[in-house]
Amino acid sequence: MAVDKHINFFELEKACEKPGCPLCGIVNDRAERYIDNMLFEHVSDRKFRAAHRQAGGFCAYHSRNLESFRDGLAVAILSRDILEERLISFKNRGYWRRKERCPVCAERDRIETEYLGFLAGAGGESAEERELRQVFTRSDGLCAPHYGRLLGSWKRIPAWITEFHDRKFADLKRRIDEFIELSAYGRQEEFRALPERDKLVWKELALALRGSVD
Ligand SMILES: [Zn+2]
Ligand SMILES: [Zn+2]
Repeated sequence: MAVDKHINFFELEKACEKPGCPLCGIVNDRAERYIDNMLFEHVSDRKFRAAHRQAGGFCAYHSRNLESFRDGLAVAILSRDILEERLISFKNRGYWRRKERCPVCAERDRIETEYLGFLAGAGGESAEERELRQVFTRSDGLCAPHYGRLLGSWKRIPAWITEFHDRKFADLKRRIDEFIELSAYGRQEEFRALPERDKLVWKELALALRGSVD
């Protein structure tokens, strides 16, 4: 296995130990680190600066915490680029449009593709693949957006992945049916007897359908 595959493997395994979609976990972690790195190291990187400028900065979501970063100078340099662009369009009384995607959103996409591709290729029988299978099938599994993207982007997906997610989503459907049924008037007794996690299955489903990528 190549070195980067070891890293994917290690990170996925770590993410599987936490609640929620493991890929959402990785993406959130990496996006956070990416912003940090950019601000502290890549502010002098011309390619990055140009992409950031073309994008008109980060999207509203990814720029939400800029004012709380420690490196005021890096934020100032990046923000000045954007302000210069805006001044031109304001002067022309023009409407400003993004010419590139937010660099963090683009990075998020790249990470998703990398890890989904890694999963799609994890159908073998090496010791690492078997271990991944074990750890992954004990996790909460992929959220609907990530599973949908996996199905839509790769032709061949290991059977253990499709079987695991078929079971996961069928189980959610059965539990949400039960929750709705027992919420009807006259069934309070049965509802009260539900396990705690089934009483909160609506939260679990909302999260599985949305994913938790920032
Ligand atoms: Zn996800
Ligand atoms: Zn963004």
